[in-house]
Amino acid sequence: MEGEGIIKLSKSSVSRYEIEAVTDVMQKEYLGMGLQVKEFEDAIGTYLRTQKPIVCVNSGTAALHLALQSLDIKCGDEVLVPTITYVASFQAITAVGATPIACDVDEESFVIDLHDAKRRVSPNTKAIMPVWYAGDISRREKVYLFAKSMGIRVIEDAAHAFGSEINGEVFGSEGDIICFSFDGIKNITCGEGGAIIFSKEFEAEAARNARLLGVDGDSKKREKGLRSWSFSVNMQGWRYHMSNINASIGIAQLKRIDEFKIKKKLLLNAYINELKKIPGCEIPKFDFEGVFMHIFVILVSENLRDQLRKFLLSRGIESGIHYPPNHKLSFFKTNYILPNAERFAKKCISLPYHVDLSERDIKKISKELRNFFNERNDESQTY
Ligand SMILES: *Cc1c(COP(=O)(O)O)cnc(C)c1O
Repeated sequence: MEGEGIIKLSKSSVSRYEIEAVTDVMQKEYLGMGLQVKEFEDAIGTYLRTQKPIVCVNSGTAALHLALQSLDIKCGDEVLVPTITYVASFQAITAVGATPIACDVDEESFVIDLHDAKRRVSPNTKAIMPVWYAGDISRREKVYLFAKSMGIRVIEDAAHAFGSEINGEVFGSEGDIICFSFDGIKNITCGEGGAIIFSKEFEAEAARNARLLGVDGDSKKREKGLRSWSFSVNMQGWRYHMSNINASIGIAQLKRIDEFKIKKKLLLNAYINELKKIPGCEIPKFDFEGVFMHIFVILVSENLRDQLRKFLLSRGIESGIHYPPNHKLSFFKTNYILPNAERFAKKCISLPYHVDLSERDIKKISKELRNFFNERNDESQTY
């Protein structure tokens, strides 16, 4: 594009607050896990209005892995998971030696389809891992009722949903286990990072130890800037703790979350207003009221999708596909088909959606979409 920047699908929003926070940690010269991590865990608790134990780790994937491990889910166990998710959800399940049971998705919200999930329950099923696609948490209660009726645990992959609301209240204070991601493009970021909201203190304690190589009680010491020189290890652990640098970015981002929400709502409404007038663009029926939307996804005819992506890119507009179904990947291949998910994956396209977009960007993207579909509609009228 001549001189004009490309419109990115997604990006972090970094203000002077994040830069000041990181500089501050740098100047203190304590970069690893210490005070700021505890401060960030407390800030998350305050934001979610919960006293529940919160454990920060270095990625959303690590959060899912440690959540599974702390429930003692292991080899021989099965976990129900929607096939439409980032591969992280599947990898976290195989990381503990368990088997991910790929399930179909609901046709409206693209979260796990409970009718399909029910068919795939076995005596080995230990948990369900719903993924709040795009941040829509409106099916949460149904998933919990299902899990209760099956006697299984819930590990929420809420990587898309930090800050989403039910009845005007941010969710996170109720539930079994909730995992968030703070990677570079999530609703708020730490650069890289994740958090687990536990409902049982002993499970949180297991995760606190597991994030520090299984060293018993090391988390508590590090909050005070101390280290364990003589210690006991009773479990498999990992190097999953969060650093003070990442935590300080998270603290700064959390202070901006209301501003992010307002901006993203504005962009969302701008998109909906423009796109509802374009035949060929289908806007999913999400719960737009409560969702703090992470990605903006539309559905188009499957024989036009890849063409549209190329067309947009030629106009300087990035797009994405969230997600190719995991049950088609060779490592996770199933011998059954998941029709809704397979159809969805051919039709979905994610449009640029991040805090630093302007309404003008949305107008430009919409104009290009209109151009694309006008050309196609004209052609289709010639026979
Ligand atoms: C981002 C994401 C994850 C993993 O989080 P990371 O912080 O990138 O490890 C897991 N599940 C879903 C649905 C995600 O979008």
